[in-house]
Amino acid sequence: MLDKVLIANRGEIALRILRACKELDIKTVAVHSKIDADLKHVKLADEAVCIGPNPSPQSYLNVPAIISAMEITGAQAVHPGYGFLAENADFAEQVENSGFVFIGPTADVIRVMGDKVAAIRAMKAAGVPTVPGSDGPLSTDPAELKATALRIGYPVIIKAASGGGGRGMRVVESEQTLINSVAITKTEAAAAFGDGTVYMEKFLQNPRHVEVQVLSDGQGNAIHLGDRDCSLQRRHQKVIEEAPAPGIPEDARQAVFESCVNACIQINYRGAGTFEFLYEDGHYYFIEMNTRVQVEHPVSEMITGVDIVKEQLLIASGRELSFTQEQIIFRGHSFECRINAEDPVTFMPQPGTINAYHAPGGNGVRVDSHIYNGYRVPPNYDSLIGKIITYGRDRDSALSRMRNALDEMVIDGIKTNIDLHARLVRDEAFKKGGVNIHYLEKKLGL
Ligand code: ADP
Repeated sequence: MLDKVLIANRGEIALRILRACKELDIKTVAVHSKIDADLKHVKLADEAVCIGPNPSPQSYLNVPAIISAMEITGAQAVHPGYGFLAENADFAEQVENSGFVFIGPTADVIRVMGDKVAAIRAMKAAGVPTVPGSDGPLSTDPAELKATALRIGYPVIIKAASGGGGRGMRVVESEQTLINSVAITKTEAAAAFGDGTVYMEKFLQNPRHVEVQVLSDGQGNAIHLGDRDCSLQRRHQKVIEEAPAPGIPEDARQAVFESCVNACIQINYRGAGTFEFLYEDGHYYFIEMNTRVQVEHPVSEMITGVDIVKEQLLIASGRELSFTQEQIIFRGHSFECRINAEDPVTFMPQPGTINAYHAPGGNGVRVDSHIYNGYRVPPNYDSLIGKIITYGRDRDSALSRMRNALDEMVIDGIKTNIDLHARLVRDEAFKKGGVNIHYLEKKLGL
């Protein structure tokens, strides 16, 4: 068993990891930027090391500083959380080359999944359903591009192979704008991601975002923890998530679960991971695999009783999975609302000091958040300040608990999106379930 873990992240996920470590009697090392010395997990960790100034390139992305902190504190392993270095194959490689454990898959697997073209190829080979597309990088030959788009059928989407965070994509409606759009996406991708490789996919008009959570120990055992629907998005950022994904025929769900588990075994996947799909008219289309824990992992925990972060730590300790697929019992329904420090109209981040904070509670209500009275939300990082997660025997009861929880929550001093959530959980279409990925932006009039 690991005995000391360094948490290379901040905010709610750092606290989430700290709690899991403490449950397993693993000692913790928090690393933080200057402004983050007051973070809750920093106070609760066994040791804390300031690794640099506030801008994340100099702190949370500062690989030499993090590895030095591991050496100084004698941490054996590093948990990267999500964001920052979580999907950075070079970081994983340096950690392992320095004799430490990276809590996640091997650098090679991260590298393949980080290259969307390679990832789609690997998934296709493993039997996971993918989007009809170019099956590889696009050439610059206009005739070839036109032929590829015609074969796939308009509209198509041009995507950067190294893209992420919803950036580096362009929809093309017709041949008229094809050549130009490919050229612009290539230039933008080269500037943003240092890699101008782009590929083409069929653009699905009204899909839902449905993803499958997996756990795999890298020793030949893999299981799934069911699916999550994350269709409520704004600018490709998820706003509300739920598990299970409502209204999908059971045979289609089971088939895709099985293909994900098989893929994990085929690529010898190690750790927690998520297969993201677009789902339209009864079909799943793989878009990418996230090789880390996700923001929305709690909804899967609520309906399975499995602690995903604890499983990550156990897998990294060299243990086999604690569960077989048959031992996973799916029960009830769960929602998660992401609480952001942001302006409700402009959606601009709203840093500042929290004067008063009252967390909601009651049966089936979980709050994952690092905030407290007097906490100052710094301007330097992501605006996520917490998550409300509710559970119920069925979708309606989980949703009514969320409605209550949102009404109870008080965060004073900064602007948040709590009111937006309170409106969304009362929305008739959302209450029915199964809205597509454009629903929220349409509702907001964007
Ligand atoms: P990123 O890594 O930037 O998140 P993804 O490939 O996961 O990129 O795509 C992000 C979002 O873009 C999806 O959730 C979906 O909303 C949209 N999208 C991506 N590919 C397609 C497609 N082929 N058709 C329609 N929408 C797409």
